[in-house]
Amino acid sequence: MEDCIFCKIKVGELPSTKVYEDDDFIIIKDINPVAKIHLIAIPNEHYPSLEMQTEHGAQVLGKILHKIGELGDSLGLENGYRLVINQGEDGGQTVQHLHIHIIGGEKLKNM
Ligand code: AMP
Ligand code: ZN
Repeated sequence: MEDCIFCKIKVGELPSTKVYEDDDFIIIKDINPVAKIHLIAIPNEHYPSLEMQTEHGAQVLGKILHKIGELGDSLGLENGYRLVINQGEDGGQTVQHLHIHIIGGEKLKNM
């Protein structure tokens, strides 16, 4: 947890461009965007991955999904977007603090 990039961003020890913040999570711009718009929604609590999730964490994830739906247009995502959770090694997870990628701002390639 001490070495967690996202925990450091949360407390301001590392810089970030926040586009949304509330008591449970933040949404920041990804430092290495894969599309015109690439944001990451990060719960405040440090869950290394989905299988370490708690009941409360699951509620926060639900809140995040609801808020993304509300914010979509204001974030420039009115034409749609893709949500991604990279889980574990096979999923390509590189930061061990559960987060949701929000990708859009252009027509994405089919999966
Ligand atoms: P994942 O590969 O799913 O674990 O995603 C981690 C994401 O965090 C990657 O898309 C990185 O580009 C992004 N990232 C890493 N460090 C930072 C940072 N300091 N600020 C913003 N995004 C970051
Ligand atoms: Zn963390």
